Amino acid sequence: MSAAERSRPCVAHVAIIGGGPAGLMAAEVTRATGAEVDVYDRMGSVGRKFLIAGKGGLNLTHSDGFETFVARYGSRQAEVRRWLEAFDADALRAWARELGVETFVGSSGRVFPLDLKAAPLLRGWVRRLRASGVRFHMHYNWRGWDDDGALRFACEDGQHRVDADAVVLALGGGSWSVLGSDGAWVQALQQRGIDIAPLAPSNCGFEVGWSEHFAKRHAGQPVKPVIVEWRDAGAVVIRKQGEFVVTANGVEGSLIYAFSAPLRDAISAQGATEIRLDLAPGRDAARLARDLARPRGSRSLSEHLRRHAGIDGVKAGLLYEVLSKAQLQDNARVVAAIKSLPLKLLRPRPLDEAISTAGGVRFNALDDTLMLKNLAAVFCAGEMIDWEAPTGGYLLTACFASGRIAGRSAALHALERVRTAAAIQAQRS
Ligand SMILES: Cc1cc2nc3c(=O)[nH]c(=O)nc-3n(C[C@H](O)[C@H](O)[C@H](O)COP(=O)(O)OP(=O)(O)OC[C@H]3O[C@@H](n4cnc5c(N)ncnc54)[C@H](O)[C@@H]3O)c2cc1C
Repeated sequence: MSAAERSRPCVAHVAIIGGGPAGLMAAEVTRATGAEVDVYDRMGSVGRKFLIAGKGGLNLTHSDGFETFVARYGSRQAEVRRWLEAFDADALRAWARELGVETFVGSSGRVFPLDLKAAPLLRGWVRRLRASGVRFHMHYNWRGWDDDGALRFACEDGQHRVDADAVVLALGGGSWSVLGSDGAWVQALQQRGIDIAPLAPSNCGFEVGWSEHFAKRHAGQPVKPVIVEWRDAGAVVIRKQGEFVVTANGVEGSLIYAFSAPLRDAISAQGATEIRLDLAPGRDAARLARDLARPRGSRSLSEHLRRHAGIDGVKAGLLYEVLSKAQLQDNARVVAAIKSLPLKLLRPRPLDEAISTAGGVRFNALDDTLMLKNLAAVFCAGEMIDWEAPTGGYLLTACFASGRIAGRSAALHALERVRTAAAIQAQRS
């Protein structure tokens, strides 16, 4: 080794695979340590799912207090808490402000950019990353490792091999595969002996065996206001008011997504599960019974229900769907059904349609720095790790926060590797 080589500072090289919120955040903190950073993504541009998330208003995070926020991660809250202790909702809002994006708290407590959009934030962020020296490589489809440990990519012009001192995998879940994250990474990691919980839909719709008549007539219509109740072993586990949408094959929407994890798990354990709907949240059963007992005269049942119970449109359709003709003539049965209409959920809609993905790299396969225990120098971040949360900004917040941990850890690990290699080299020469 020449004197010039010996005096050269050690520069570590980190490869980030996946340019979603988790990967870009990992790139940002890695670059801040002075490491060389290359971001690879199989799509033609980064952040495609982030942009779609912004379509209906980008729900960046939530104004919940810290403990309430952490509780949203259910059985994984202990692990996610560590990420959020280092980068919580307030830190995320401050970070967005640095990028020139002010945020506000909506009436539901959810936090949005002032203009509700994702594109300006993403544009400004990528510009800042490029300016800091992060290099982007698009249409690089990661396929695993070579026999000699190099990263293997399929590109438009053939195969590419990449060597790096550390790698951050931020490959997303398996939903909305058209946006890039297709879950194909599962196989590459399993081949390396990494423990992966099967990917499953989260924040998803469910199938109901609607009659053809009901589906044709009511698909696309919102049911609101409505209370959804779900019982497990007889005890009420879920009871919440809101709205959902009837689809051609079932139900979807915020009120359903909020409980999709326990509903999905119950279906998986029992083959199906039943929710109950209160179609008239503002009226108790006694009032409904009194009102519906009024003389109907020559009016149709539909008109009677509309006038005296406020039940019409899709809500009336649901009653007709569940009750027989004879039952519909029995006021007591009708009142009972309005206040507690049973709906059998047959199965979750496919993973590709879900807002997010449950399952992924299990926490027991990762150390506290998010490095894979069985694959030194390989770190994971974002939705590809085995956690889930309801919508409300909790998904993005955990992706950003885990990206920071994985990025910083990868940079430190890579630097240590380079220094060790340089010291060995120096000893030899
Ligand atoms: C319709 C919709 C609305 C949403 N709205 C919200 C919301 O308002 N708030 C919220 O908190 N969350 C929302 N989410 C969820 C949120 O967008 C995701 O949780 C988040 O984008 C996950 O970030 P990530 O970086 O882990 O993965 P991703 O954003 O999925 O990024 C992964 C990246 O990896 C790349 N990649 C995958 N495989 C490979 C490979 N083999 N080689 C190279 N590159 C690869 C992909 O192309 C992609 O760019 C929404 C999701 C959807 C679908």
